[in-house]
Amino acid sequence: LASLESQYNSNGFLHQITASADFSRKKQGRMAASGPKSSSPRGLGRRTTVGSAQKKTPKKNGEKDSNATSTVTNEVLEISKLPGAKADVEKQSSVVFGERNVLDRSETEVDALLELKLKAERENLRRKEIEALAEETLARDVKNGMDKVEFENFLLEEKWREQEKLAKEEAERERQEEEKRRIEARKAAIEADREQAKAETQKRREMLHQALEKAVVSARNVWYIEPKNFKGEDKVKLYYNKRSGPLANAKEIWIHGGFNSWVDGLSIVEKLVDAELKDDSKNGDWWFAEVIVPVRALVIDWVFADGPPEGAFLYDNNSRKDFHALVPLTTPEEAYWSEEEDRMFRKLQEERRLKEEAMRVKMEKTARLKAETKERTLKMFLLSQKDVVYTEPLEIQAGSPVTVLYNPSNTVLNGKPEVWFRGSFNRWTHRLGPLPQKMEAADDGSSHLKTSAKVPLDAYMMDFVFSEKEDGGMFDNKDGLDYHLPVVGGIAKEPPLHIVHIAVEMAPIAKVGGLGDVVTSLSRAVQELSHNVDIIFPKYDCIKYNFVKDLQFNRSYHWGGTEIKVWHGKVEGVSVYFLDPQNGLFQRGCVYGCADDAGRFGFFCHAALEFLLQGGFHPDILHCHDWSSAPVSWLFKDHYTHYGLIKTRVVFTIHNLEFGAGAIGKAMTFADKATTVSRTYAKEVAGNSVISPHLYKFHGIVNGIDPDIWDPYNDNFIPVPYTSENVLEGKRAAKEELQKRLGLKSADLPLVGIITRLTHQKGIHLIKHAIRRTLERNGQVLTQPLKGLVMNFFTIFTSFSSKQVVLLGSAPDPRIQNDFVNLANQLHSTHGDRARLVLTYDEPLSHLIYAGADFILVPSIFEPCGLTQLIAMRYGSVPVVRKTGGLYDTVFDVDHDKERAQAQVLEPNGFSFDGADAPGVDYALNRAISAWYDGREWFNSLCKTLMEQDWSWNRPALEYIELYHSARK
Ligand code: ADP
Repeated sequence: LASLESQYNSNGFLHQITASADFSRKKQGRMAASGPKSSSPRGLGRRTTVGSAQKKTPKKNGEKDSNATSTVTNEVLEISKLPGAKADVEKQSSVVFGERNVLDRSETEVDALLELKLKAERENLRRKEIEALAEETLARDVKNGMDKVEFENFLLEEKWREQEKLAKEEAERERQEEEKRRIEARKAAIEADREQAKAETQKRREMLHQALEKAVVSARNVWYIEPKNFKGEDKVKLYYNKRSGPLANAKEIWIHGGFNSWVDGLSIVEKLVDAELKDDSKNGDWWFAEVIVPVRALVIDWVFADGPPEGAFLYDNNSRKDFHALVPLTTPEEAYWSEEEDRMFRKLQEERRLKEEAMRVKMEKTARLKAETKERTLKMFLLSQKDVVYTEPLEIQAGSPVTVLYNPSNTVLNGKPEVWFRGSFNRWTHRLGPLPQKMEAADDGSSHLKTSAKVPLDAYMMDFVFSEKEDGGMFDNKDGLDYHLPVVGGIAKEPPLHIVHIAVEMAPIAKVGGLGDVVTSLSRAVQELSHNVDIIFPKYDCIKYNFVKDLQFNRSYHWGGTEIKVWHGKVEGVSVYFLDPQNGLFQRGCVYGCADDAGRFGFFCHAALEFLLQGGFHPDILHCHDWSSAPVSWLFKDHYTHYGLIKTRVVFTIHNLEFGAGAIGKAMTFADKATTVSRTYAKEVAGNSVISPHLYKFHGIVNGIDPDIWDPYNDNFIPVPYTSENVLEGKRAAKEELQKRLGLKSADLPLVGIITRLTHQKGIHLIKHAIRRTLERNGQVLTQPLKGLVMNFFTIFTSFSSKQVVLLGSAPDPRIQNDFVNLANQLHSTHGDRARLVLTYDEPLSHLIYAGADFILVPSIFEPCGLTQLIAMRYGSVPVVRKTGGLYDTVFDVDHDKERAQAQVLEPNGFSFDGADAPGVDYALNRAISAWYDGREWFNSLCKTLMEQDWSWNRPALEYIELYHSARK
């Protein structure tokens, strides 16, 4: 080995082996010293063995390749002599470079390519040779009594230790960099504060100069000060001739004063007393007050009044000029102003420190809450599968044993006499597995079966399926997705996927409905799980560019008879490529609404694929959405699968089947996987003829909301930040602010909020009914006994006092909009203090309503997923919904859905109703409002429960990643 190494070193090859080869050389000394069974020097060979030992049979001693080195060298030499070699390289290179449109290659380029290829071949053969030698070494070790698995584990542990050391070094480097950044930021802040202090002092100086010009030491027959010479902190007597101005007849005289052109506002307030002067030279009715001269005063400013500040009517303000007295014995002016500047600087620094400290505390708390939620959600997710499969421990640790428990009675293997477990790691790529293991009965009396395995240190994921026989038969592979559970604490990380969304709506730059929210927030969530995400988006003229960071021209290409300029920027931290075709298709001032929308978006989809191809992108997944980017699915299969984008798979998501069913059906045919935005909606549309042939690849994954965008603890549109700890305080403040802003009566009344597009899908007739019902005063309303209340017997009648209702909605259809304008006018005149209908799209106001309302009503006729009920819960508002689609999957009725909630490891969280008529809405709304009146404590704890539930992307993003992986199989 040593001679081989030196030979390779002389060829310069070893330098090109991966870093881990260097690492294994570094390790040699330590291994020889620490491994009790390692008597001979080892190194390179062992590292290479790790990946290959399982697959290859170790050669017996003496059976090794005869003179491997010379065989390899000869092979390398032979390659260059092969008759077709050059032509072969030329052919391959044109495939490799074809996508960059390189058609003609010069002779020298071809030679260079040939050279490259030969070099690669040489390296490949040498690597193989090292592996062969390494195996031989291992075989020797095994023969000498070294257990192979033990040996591999030993290596992994060594690698782990080395990685930990590297991680510590990296962390230290990052800490130092952070420290450097901090010092620089501090320097910049000091600089900025000094500048500001200077500027403000200068401004004050100018203002004060004007006051100083007006200042005098006394005004004949009006006022004077004794003694004549005084300075800051002195006590002086200020005399005033009451008869000199409008206060001649006032019973009391007060001085309201300040200093240095009122710099600190009102800081001197004293009552004057009659001076009873006998001195004839001082004509008039003289009064005086003792005044302490403010410490830094250059000039004293004041007015006289007939009472204290809160009780004065008459003033003598020196004909609106106020009175100004010079302070004679002050510090020299320059010294004074330099001190002033210093004081101002210290004040700014202190303000900055306090602000930064508060921000740091808030950020830390936000991050902590987010991490806790994530951890809780993962645990709940693992527990929620318990009736089929779970592990002990629940969190699988790399390097430790794990027991898998499986309950076949809830799967396709129900009743099979035997169940076999076939597992591996790292999405089936690990060297261990998938060896079948027969499962035995778990000895806890349940119907679960169990089996155990040791989790290797380099695992990041455990994968398994179950079968009825050792060699196969019927499988439970979780409907084709396989079972995958994350492994923590290992030394290997999951390689990132590259996902490209092609979409025409995106929050907040061009949001029309929920689709826009989903594109942005799903991308962010997947990116947070360490995958790479890009979005391709039309460069509309109506984009809100203030939300686009680092927008730069990227490139331009020609396609479809026009030039297409490409811009790149970041939106909410996600990379976005903006396509700007010069034919004006996206210069229409709108996202949708043109007669040729289908053509515009069809063009965009094709242009996006062309951009990927010409740009040399090789994404793992193309994700397209609804009818508008459905064409990606078939255009890709028609034109691009065999031309450069071979490894790419297409995932298509239906957000709403109501629009463009034709395009959706065609996309379903061509997509590798399809999803829709909740399980119930997936079931509801399963019978539709455009969906039904494709059910085998169709999955329902509920949407999440972005916890950073919708976060009552960090929301600039609400008055008091809150978490579940201070939900009542936060919601009370938001309700008061909402009532004030909308001119509603300020009172603690139950408030129902509705935030919606006003279309038939959203249940317009139910919305109207609910508004009227909410406004009915003192109605006798039938309610059901509330679970969790110890007060009701059977059915009770409750008489309500008033309630309030706020609707924020906009209708694309002018007839519906008019209808609501009329309703608004009518209600504002009859119930002005209790109803407000705001008929626009207003995102900031929506935040305040989510926070200030007690209930958010969503009576949709159909609802693929719905985000409003999820946002409501994040803000501690109780959802009242119709049982359909995603509303059914996310809202669990406090009276009727306890078990269904428990299956998801959740508490019930709202009120729901069946049917699409008035009694349905009444049934849910009445129970909700009576809960508010009858059981405030219970109701308040419900708000807290809602806020602690996780309706973010934490769980759905994991499901999407599973789906992306299954699309790649
Ligand atoms: P859809 O996409 O069918 O409109 P979703 O419930 O999926 O319904 O998403 C609606 C989104 O639009 C939510 O984020 C909601 O807050 C917002 N929204 C709806 N109407 C308005 C409005 N008038 N003003 C502000 N935001 C609105």
